Amino acid sequence: MKELRREPIVQRWVLISSEHPPANPKDSCPFCSGNEKDTPPEILAVRPPGGRADQWLLRVVPNVFPFFRIEGNLDRRAVGMYDEMNGIGAHELVIETPQHFQHWGTMSTEELSRVLWAYQQRFLDLRKDSRFRQVIVAKNHYSDHIRIPHQHSHIVAMPIIPKRIDEEIKGLDDYYRHKERCIFCDVLHEEIAVATRVVFESANFVAFCPYASRYPYELWVVPKNHAPDFAQISEPELKDLALNLRHVLGRLKAALHDPPYSLVVHSTPVQKFFHKGFHWHIELRPRVEERSGFEWATGFFVNFTPPEFAAKKLREAREE
Ligand SMILES: [Zn+2]
Ligand SMILES: [Zn+2]
Ligand SMILES: [Zn+2]
Repeated sequence: MKELRREPIVQRWVLISSEHPPANPKDSCPFCSGNEKDTPPEILAVRPPGGRADQWLLRVVPNVFPFFRIEGNLDRRAVGMYDEMNGIGAHELVIETPQHFQHWGTMSTEELSRVLWAYQQRFLDLRKDSRFRQVIVAKNHYSDHIRIPHQHSHIVAMPIIPKRIDEEIKGLDDYYRHKERCIFCDVLHEEIAVATRVVFESANFVAFCPYASRYPYELWVVPKNHAPDFAQISEPELKDLALNLRHVLGRLKAALHDPPYSLVVHSTPVQKFFHKGFHWHIELRPRVEERSGFEWATGFFVNFTPPEFAAKKLREAREE
């Protein structure tokens, strides 16, 4: 059973599933080259010309333990006073490199560009499905939650707009109504002018610790030019983003001794919910502190690492 149920008070969709992924995979890594048979057939792969099945540089495969299932109708319905629909969506894994131990901070710009290109290809493909309203990329590096340390990311196409994106859209729309400007564009101008929270600026992107960072060393990477849609990134921009991320992750690795982190790409919803006022961006949260129950209880964040301090430490970190 996989169902999307809407919490009626704050109107947050929650996926309720009776299928639980197994705690421990078998000893060998299903993502290493030579173990291709341990994953479902590829959706997308990059191989050198004439490369054999195990000579790949990157693969995209369906997740064996998906949040959502791909087949079926949404079947939106009322259950008593509640709203519910089937848990339909896509859940794919990008196996970013054939090497078991890798890090974005030490991968080449070319390798990282390939990963971003794969995200873009899957964004463009998945949005054609009229059942989906949002495509999300999420990546966890060495966090407690992941079963396999081999570098990979999740691409999830959902039939709903997640709460966090919905909140950002409300913020963007509200600001636009008053000022007829994009709040993200204004934040970028401010951060570049003030400079104390900037970690790395490249030709097209700025990485900075946000003014009201919720988490220690929280980072946002935002395109300088207003653009709602990650999937429409140009090739030079994609390469510049790879360069930017490589430096930012390299500094994070050096400054905090390779912390676990989570990274997410926030882009406009798709189909009829496409929002040209959206300003796509990446949010990154190092997992360096256990959160208190207070945040869970209230949605109110307490951060003991001022973003100005975090940005300075990251700017001064020496990459490998
Ligand atoms: Zn591996
Ligand atoms: Zn903007
Ligand atoms: Zn965001």
